Amino acid sequence: MQRRDFIKRAGAGALAVGGGLGVAGAAQARAEHQWKMVTTWPKNFPGLGTAANKLAALIGDMSGGRIQIKVYGAGELVPAFEVFDAVSRGTAEMGHGSAYYWKGKSEAAQFFSTVPFGLTAQEMIAWTLYGGGLELWTELYDQFGLIPMPAGNTGVQMGGWFNKEINSVEDLKGLKMRIPGLGGEVLKRAGGTPVNLPGGELFTALQTGAIDATEWVGPYNDLAFGLYKAAKYYYYPGFHEPGSLVEAMLNKAAFGQLPKDLQAIVRTACKAMNQELLAEYTARNPLALETLITEHKADLRVYPQDVLKKLRKLSDEVVADLGQKDAFTRKVYASYNKFYQDARKWSNISELAYLKARDSI
Ligand code: CA
Repeated sequence: MQRRDFIKRAGAGALAVGGGLGVAGAAQARAEHQWKMVTTWPKNFPGLGTAANKLAALIGDMSGGRIQIKVYGAGELVPAFEVFDAVSRGTAEMGHGSAYYWKGKSEAAQFFSTVPFGLTAQEMIAWTLYGGGLELWTELYDQFGLIPMPAGNTGVQMGGWFNKEINSVEDLKGLKMRIPGLGGEVLKRAGGTPVNLPGGELFTALQTGAIDATEWVGPYNDLAFGLYKAAKYYYYPGFHEPGSLVEAMLNKAAFGQLPKDLQAIVRTACKAMNQELLAEYTARNPLALETLITEHKADLRVYPQDVLKKLRKLSDEVVADLGQKDAFTRKVYASYNKFYQDARKWSNISELAYLKARDSI
């Protein structure tokens, strides 16, 4: 053991003397804080995965190289759904994912991703930063030695890819669909079977018939996964994910070791990525949808009104039930719901009224 350590040290020394570290290696050696970021996304996946890369690069640049972060895709250091635990125990200093993946830790976590028929991206960041959301989220993650930060949003997602038509509520019965979070619970109450799989497993699951349908994100990301090759019908709107927040999580002890300026840099970089990612989706989705329809012959369908009506009713029940699970979840639900009621009134006479007017003239 000692001999091996000696050889390793000697080897590193020889490399340094020979200047063999290269520019990146030298920067890494200079960094005051060398961090790992584990993610729930496939490595370099467009939008979600590249947002993690951009966040790491941004923190590196803003800190003048004092923080260097190496990003790991799902399965590289830990599997997708072990990101939360890995950052909690300090295997990695930072994680990148979405809070509904951690409902096994706390049901309340789901409010910090998205809620079926809930807040849009614009409203969600408003609740998070100005409506008390982040304080509650911080209180929750603190129990696990973590600090959460908003770090992106997908905007309204698509309903998903189905290998059969959905013409009535009956068609949801027995449907085996990959749909995480509260949307999955809604499908369950509609008679379907929700399953949760990390993104990297969706295509195969759908193609082999292990599942009948899957939602993922929207045209930009669904095109990248080639989901159109595995199912024909592409339904909208994504009632189940109207504005999904992407999270960064920090190991509390590691974050606490940073001086105040670096802490501010990490927080600011995450916040900047919230805008950055939403802009990327908003810009890329329309072109990707066009490609899916014209080149790949995706059959675009809107959910029938009576299906949406039923899903809306079930969603309200699911969210209300969730809000009664435990004392903490009740507190989060009360905050979210109050904000939702107010935001909805304002959005109806601002965004909604405007979009309707824009579209009707
Ligand atoms: Ca999704």
